[in-house]
Amino acid sequence: MATIAVLGGGYAGLRTVKRLVREKVNAHIVLVNKYPYHYESTQLHEVAAGTKKPSDITFDIREAVSDEVDVVIDTVASIDRANKKVLLEKSGPLSYDYLVNALGFETETFGIKGVEENSLSFYDIDSAVAVHEHLEKTLANYATSHDENDLHIVVCGAGFTGIELLGELVHQIPAWTQKYALPEGGIKLYCIEAGKKILPMLPEELSKWAVDYLTEHGVEMHSGTAITQVNPGSVMGGDLEFRANTIIWTTGVRGSHVICDSGYDQKRNRVIVKDDLSVEGQPEEFLIGDVSALPDPASGRLYPTTAQIAIAQADAAAVNVAALVAGNPTKPFVFKSVGTVCSLGPHCGVATIDMFGHWKLKGHKVGLVKKLVNDRSVLELAHVKEMLASN
Ligand SMILES: Cc1cc2nc3c(=O)[nH]c(=O)nc-3n(C[C@H](O)[C@H](O)[C@H](O)COP(=O)(O)OP(=O)(O)OC[C@H]3O[C@@H](n4cnc5c(N)ncnc54)[C@H](O)[C@@H]3O)c2cc1C
Repeated sequence: MATIAVLGGGYAGLRTVKRLVREKVNAHIVLVNKYPYHYESTQLHEVAAGTKKPSDITFDIREAVSDEVDVVIDTVASIDRANKKVLLEKSGPLSYDYLVNALGFETETFGIKGVEENSLSFYDIDSAVAVHEHLEKTLANYATSHDENDLHIVVCGAGFTGIELLGELVHQIPAWTQKYALPEGGIKLYCIEAGKKILPMLPEELSKWAVDYLTEHGVEMHSGTAITQVNPGSVMGGDLEFRANTIIWTTGVRGSHVICDSGYDQKRNRVIVKDDLSVEGQPEEFLIGDVSALPDPASGRLYPTTAQIAIAQADAAAVNVAALVAGNPTKPFVFKSVGTVCSLGPHCGVATIDMFGHWKLKGHKVGLVKKLVNDRSVLELAHVKEMLASN
């Protein structure tokens, strides 16, 4: 019997194994993930800001997948593609006949000096918890230090992650001010972004609404300001120095380092895949989610790295692997977006929805949309019990 190895238990990997089981593929399915739990990457900023607990956005992988799937909790070190073996940190090599690589994203620093040493970023549960603990500790420290930089927070980057994080931080300010008896208006939030336009993927009126919302809630937005260096306690951007004892880096993502460590032809650890999501010259190997790069035939630009696309690619890859196992041809990946949601704290946000027409939404109703999207994801990746438990 053939072995299908699926690497990564994020949106893409978990959905792949679920779909393979549904397709009744005649093969041995192995899912490898670093942690025994799945985490909702789209909600990591909420754990970082402390508006959600890790247990709100995680569930046990073994309980979520069918008994037909072998779950291996281990870290992929690299892939010996010539010999079709996955090299793991703790266990022996895993041989495969088909591979679905869904190892996901890491933080991109763009080689800017001091970023790794002097800023915090979040890309999994532990790193998100570390950001939250740093925030609480630094705010608490003000009582003894009276150093105003303990109350200053710089968010580097105004993409979705940076803006969504700022929304959560804004929401937390009143509670933190009360908890640590801070001066009213003492917590200062800065956002520094190299691009001139914030949230360029959204229509102008929605991105403006988001920026106005954050500005009205005390965020100082600095767009068109390229960060040149991060020092201990300060960020250099344009001609300005932003002093803060909390610096959070959210300027973008690259794929897993396992990609370049395994000799793929890659850019920022993303591999251009064929339209059926397989790798050129390796029909048994599929890359999906944030490690893959596929041009959108409509625009010619690469699809963005989103959970929505990762999940759609997982379905397509699983169907294609099942077709190969059965000796049938593969089909091209087709994607239709259902819209984009950018939250601004737990109860607010902006969104475009492409279902039953084209809708532009802003304000409190978007909080409900985001919750429905998140619940649907938990529902589809785990099961109803988990979704109800997270309410
Ligand atoms: C704060 C934030 C908010 C976002 N909001 C949205 C949103 O609203 N909508 C949207 O569509 N997208 C959103 N995104 C993007 C989305 O989260 C990613 O595109 C998505 O997570 C990609 O899914 P994936 O399965 O490819 O990777 P991941 O979710 O990164 O999953 C990768 C999995 O692989 C595991 N893994 C990693 N390395 C190894 C290794 N070496 N060995 C074993 N296992 C490993 C990880 O533990 C993880 O389980 C957001 C991202 C962030 C950070």
